[in-house]
Amino acid sequence: MTSVDILVPQLQTARAEPACWAVDPEVFYGPADSTDDGPPSHPWERRALAVCARCPVLQICRAAALEFPASEQYGVVGGMTAGQRRARG
Ligand code: SF4
Repeated sequence: MTSVDILVPQLQTARAEPACWAVDPEVFYGPADSTDDGPPSHPWERRALAVCARCPVLQICRAAALEFPASEQYGVVGGMTAGQRRARG
């Protein structure tokens, strides 16, 4: 499962603190993910994407998250839904 916890080594090299470190990790996961590359389907995804939108390490996080296989994409990471990341994987 791709989660920001797995990305911690990459994020620790950034000079700024990830925005998600100040919020409950549960914000980034819900009962179901969006399944395609379109806009987020679920309110929880929109709330998580709002956190990512103000994150100073978004580009680093996104690049690392996209390295994971499409089948291991869950939750919102790197300012993208799982469906959006799977579409790029
Ligand atoms: S882009 Fe989102 S998931 Fe990635 S470090 Fe920032 S807040 Fe966390």
